[in-house]
Amino acid sequence: MDWFYVAIEVPPERFEERALELPGQRFVGANVTIPHKLAALELADRASGAARAIGAANMLTFADGEIEAENTDAIGMADILRERGLTGDGAPSALVLGAGGAGRAVVWALLETGAERICLWNRTPERTRELVAHLSDYVDTGPIRPVANPGEAVADVELIVNATAIGMSAKSYDEKEAGAAEAELERLHIAVGDLRQEQALVDLTYRPDGTALANNARQRGLTVVDGLDFLVYQGAASFRLWTGREPPLATMGRAAAGASG
Ligand code: NAP
Repeated sequence: MDWFYVAIEVPPERFEERALELPGQRFVGANVTIPHKLAALELADRASGAARAIGAANMLTFADGEIEAENTDAIGMADILRERGLTGDGAPSALVLGAGGAGRAVVWALLETGAERICLWNRTPERTRELVAHLSDYVDTGPIRPVANPGEAVADVELIVNATAIGMSAKSYDEKEAGAAEAELERLHIAVGDLRQEQALVDLTYRPDGTALANNARQRGLTVVDGLDFLVYQGAASFRLWTGREPPLATMGRAAAGASG
């Protein structure tokens, strides 16, 4: 395939103008990141059910003079659930930490793939209420149970998803940061002893030496999808939608690991 994928930096005040130039420059689409995800949805002529329900788009497709918006965090999360057998009869009860933009995408994917019970925690409870109110215009939010203390819910779920920014750092843990890993788990209100081998963890945040949550989960034998894996899944969803071809997941994984390491 003779395609290329480039990074284009653009300030918020120039986003619309720059995005509208892209189809004329033979781009088939664009991935969009913070802080442009809402603007991307507003700019589009059409939006997928996921992008509308979540209220944000991270992927635009240019075709037939129109712009279509999609949310590949949601599509990637649904793909992870399907691949790990966490749908249908295996539909999980889940604990989702974080009700920001990524949390919305995760909860949408869980609802869409039939999750039985979704315990949802956010540091700021108002944001949990906003998430439920927003999604309820589009999907049945019956399975969502807002929780005040994730520590009380963690033992009783099959899947744990960290969609908070906790653990996010380009730096590795080092001696100067003694106690940093413990502090991360404290902020998530998760006790390592509550993690069970039969559980799965999806941690959207990434750090080079692994987040405290992902590292502890791996040590205790849980199935772990980390932030880099998640990035590859959501990138693969864009690749599939733009090219109509199956994405080379292993190659993408190696490229992502090389770029981040
Ligand atoms: P966002 O909308 O800004 O939400 C941030 C979330 O983190 C909120 O739930 C916020 O809680 C919580 N948070 C931040 N600092 C906290 C702290 N000290 N204690 C407790 N909670 C805290 O961001 P987002 O778009 O949802 O992204 C969330 C994370 O997912 C980021 O780390 C992002 O990089 C990652 N992500 C990764 C991928 C990937 O491909 N791997 C894709 C999407 C997102 P409050 O509401 O209380 O502030």
